[in-house]
Amino acid sequence: MSDKAPTSWTIRWKLWFSKTLNAGAVNDSFSNTSRRAFIINLFCLVGVLFTGPLGLISLLKGNLLIGLGLLSIASIYSLNHLYLRKTKNYLFSANVILYPLYALMLYLIYSGGVNGTGHVWIYCIPPVSLFLHGLKRGLLEVFLFILALVFILFFIPSPFDRYGYHPDLKSRIVYSFILISFLSTIYEYISSRFNQSLEALSSKLELAATTDPLTGLLNRRGLEQQMVAKEWLAPTVMVLDIDHFKSINDRFGHEHGDEYLKLVSKSMAGFLIGQKCLLSRWGGEEFLLLIEHQGDNKRFADALRNTVSNVSLTTQEGESVCTTVSIGVSELKLTETLLTAVGRADKALYEAKSHGRNCVVLASKAT
Ligand code: GH3
Ligand code: MG
Ligand code: MG
Repeated sequence: MSDKAPTSWTIRWKLWFSKTLNAGAVNDSFSNTSRRAFIINLFCLVGVLFTGPLGLISLLKGNLLIGLGLLSIASIYSLNHLYLRKTKNYLFSANVILYPLYALMLYLIYSGGVNGTGHVWIYCIPPVSLFLHGLKRGLLEVFLFILALVFILFFIPSPFDRYGYHPDLKSRIVYSFILISFLSTIYEYISSRFNQSLEALSSKLELAATTDPLTGLLNRRGLEQQMVAKEWLAPTVMVLDIDHFKSINDRFGHEHGDEYLKLVSKSMAGFLIGQKCLLSRWGGEEFLLLIEHQGDNKRFADALRNTVSNVSLTTQEGESVCTTVSIGVSELKLTETLLTAVGRADKALYEAKSHGRNCVVLASKAT
């Protein structure tokens, strides 16, 4: 046999495991939905692995009710996992885990479970409840569970009297349950705070990675990312390059150059309001506009060119900072990459520059 077989089985096993545990999760790994979907799947898996065999053992030992109860829970958990995988409705799936779990635990306390060991399982309630339902609702449910626990232990005559809980054990069960609830609350509080800051940091980083800090427009990465999220019918690519920008820097200084770039970006964004488009700072003093076909692309690009030409900035000395823009236009075929169309638009832009700047050139159509 070849050496490859175990490796491919290991990979398949890992893939299956990861797919199972992340079924129903959303893409954002910091979101509560993803964390909870992960825990629900983990709980379903562990639940089936525990309650299934324990249910069979109980049946074999003649504990019909407990055995059937455990096997029903194993089936419910399996179905719940499939439901979450299909619908991503983690709130419903969380309830499916928690409410039967509460009922089973209360029944174990009431009946004593197998030879009086029922109470050892109830400590899973606080962490699971708080994690799946969050601090507020989780704490309320844990509090109600404690009331039910006290009621069953101290006020209901139990069929478990054959063995009986020692009075000291009853109070210790309640005290230790409260202690575990308290520790679980602290843990959940710290972990949700930590998660919130991670989430905030993650969206800040995402924004920084996709936005140009000077103009606030999308950067190249942002445009490429957002482009795939939109449906395009007949997209057009326009590459805009400010004319003689270097001389603005040389004459008025980089600060004014920066201010001018900001103003140009703002005026272009204003001009494009209401259009289905993405405007980005592609680099330096070059912008890339991806826009749904305008009917007459040349006319539209000329109007945009005029908008930029009208931008002017007055220095403290009263001098006016203004220039023009050259634009290369190409149509993006849905079967080609953005960069192919940008290549054609770039060539058209080069032509516009060599024709004396401040003009629009349409690229020849892609073959
Ligand atoms: P052309 O009409 O041929 O495009 O001439 P140009 O001067 O605009 O082009 P060139 O490529 O020679 O110069 C571009 C200049 O843009 C050079 C660079 O210093 C300046 N530049 C690029 N990014 C920034 C920026 O963020 N701020 C400022 N102030 N200047 C920038
Ligand atoms: Mg330029
Ligand atoms: Mg340039």
